[in-house]
Amino acid sequence: MARVELHEQSRLDRGWLKVMNYRRYYDFQWQQTGGKEHPYIAEKTKIFLDIIPHDVSTIIDVGCGDGAISNVFAPKHTVIGVDISQEGLKNLSAEALPVLSTVDYLPLKNNCADLALCSELLEHLPKDILMQAITEIKRISKRYILISVPNKENLRKRYTKCNVCGLEFHIYCHLMSFNLNKLARYFDGYTISYSTLCGALDGKTFDTISYLRNKLAKHFCIDTISTLCPKCGNIVSLSKPSLVRRAIGYSLFILQNTLNLLLNRKPEPDWLVVLFEKSKETQEKGDSGERTLLSDFVSYNQ
Ligand SMILES: [Zn+2]
Repeated sequence: MARVELHEQSRLDRGWLKVMNYRRYYDFQWQQTGGKEHPYIAEKTKIFLDIIPHDVSTIIDVGCGDGAISNVFAPKHTVIGVDISQEGLKNLSAEALPVLSTVDYLPLKNNCADLALCSELLEHLPKDILMQAITEIKRISKRYILISVPNKENLRKRYTKCNVCGLEFHIYCHLMSFNLNKLARYFDGYTISYSTLCGALDGKTFDTISYLRNKLAKHFCIDTISTLCPKCGNIVSLSKPSLVRRAIGYSLFILQNTLNLLLNRKPEPDWLVVLFEKSKETQEKGDSGERTLLSDFVSYNQ
C-alpha cells in the first residue's frame, strides 16, 4: 500500500504524550514483545473474527500496537492500524497500512471505517484524552465499533514503583477501569450488538488490601519483561522486600483470599469485549459539525 507523509495536524510528540514519556514507554514494551504470539490475544482475535458483521470491509484498528489483530484481518479486509508506537507499527504486515498518530486527533476522514476496532487502548488514556478519543472513534466509524477493555480491573493490583523517581504506576500504564455499564455510557448513540468476557481468569482483589500491600509490604508488581518508568525513563528494578514486609504481604494475601471465599467472589475472565452499532437516530443525524481532513489516510515513512 502507498505511504504518504504524516499529516501536519497530527499531535504526535506534543501535549499529553510528552508529559509522561508514554511513547518511550510503549516503544520499549513493543521492542520486547512485538510480533510474539500471545495465546489470549489469539483467543480474543478468534472471537472478533466470529462477531464482525459480514458487511464490514474496512477496519481501522485504533491502538493496534504490534498489529497482532490487524494482521489477522488484513488478508480479507482493508485494514489501517493506528498507534503512537513506531516500534509497534513495525510489526504490521505489508497488507495493513500503518498510521503513526495519537488517538485524540486521528488523521482520518469521517466515516472512513465500516468498523473501528479498539482493543486494550481506552484503559491507557487519561480522562480528558479518553473523551476526545471516543469522539474520534465515533467520527471515523460508519456503523460499528468493537471495543475490548480489561473487565472491572482493580488498577492498584498491578502497580509497580520506579526505584529512581518513586512514581507508583500501573505496570501496563492502565489509567482507567471499566465494566459493561460504564463502557456503554461512553458510547451513547450506539446500541450493544454483542458482549462477552474472555482472556485469563483474574482473581478478585480489594482496593484497600492492594493499597496496603503496596504501602506496608512494599509488594509491587513485576513483569516477565522489563518496564520503563513513564515519568523519568528509568528501567524499573525492584529490590526484594525485607522478611517482615514479606510476612505482612503474605498475611494480606491470605486475608484477601479468605474474604473472597466468604463473599463467594470468584475469578472472572480478564477482558470485556463489546460490539456497538450506531443507532438509527445517530445514523440519521449525519456528520454535521465533524471536521474533514485533507487526505484519506496518512502514514509515516520508514
Ligand atoms: Zn521514574
